[in-house]
Amino acid sequence: NFISAVVPPDEIGVKFDDIGALEDVKKTLNELVTLPMRRPELFSHGNLLRPCKGILLFGPPGTGKTLLAKALATEAGANFISITGSTITSKWFGDAEKLTKALFSFASRLAPVIIFVDEVDSLLGARGGAFEHEATRRMRNEFMAAWDGLRSKDSQKILILGATNRPFDLDDAVIRRLPRRIYVDLPDAKNRMKILKILLSQEILGSGFKFEELADATEGYSGSDLKNLCIAAAYRPVQELLEEEEKV
Ligand code: ATP
Repeated sequence: NFISAVVPPDEIGVKFDDIGALEDVKKTLNELVTLPMRRPELFSHGNLLRPCKGILLFGPPGTGKTLLAKALATEAGANFISITGSTITSKWFGDAEKLTKALFSFASRLAPVIIFVDEVDSLLGARGGAFEHEATRRMRNEFMAAWDGLRSKDSQKILILGATNRPFDLDDAVIRRLPRRIYVDLPDAKNRMKILKILLSQEILGSGFKFEELADATEGYSGSDLKNLCIAAAYRPVQELLEEEEKV
């Protein structure tokens, strides 16, 4: 579907404490989003303090951008709407106007709400010159028009949170509408250790296991890579047991 998920804040099941590392990112998101959504009265006077309408999370794949978006909705007490750029294929493009209008009016009714646009470059990528499909262009323009058209009352409680691994593919007009851009980096050894502690918190570990050694040995791994490694390791004893059973 056009919308891949709609989840109320108490059913999201991820909070900032479940995310290892990325402390600065969590702090920035709390200031930009959690506080204005939880305490809108603090932002309703004067012109300088305005809640942010658009944020871009960018960085290598598997670094926790989706996880951050979900946890942010929990922290901010906001409903979570998720759409994925690449799943919005040409079959939707004919209905670009209808779909974007429906999305934004739905969001207004659900406010406070975070609309998470994963792979935002696919939906709102750069103007592709002569090769760009007319329908792609229309979709992007409709989306931006609906976004601009949010009444100011609503716009304080609706946040567009985009995520991408390819920030340079984004259209300038889209970049301007995502004034806060936050880099979500690969973890260093100290942060890999924090992520591993969260991933392995419920597991029985071998007696010789040392978090520090594994963190040092996994240079270049993303949070997602670490998770896959832990799943593979957890599967080993199961596999060994099955092999033993086969021998009998
Ligand atoms: P992509 O760009 O590929 O969509 P992403 O940046 O959105 O990736 P996620 O989908 O959030 O990354 O991460 C994939 C999985 O990796 C998460 O569901 C989580 O289990 C694990 N993970 C990633 N980063 C962290 C982290 N900092 N702490 C704990 N788990 C993490």
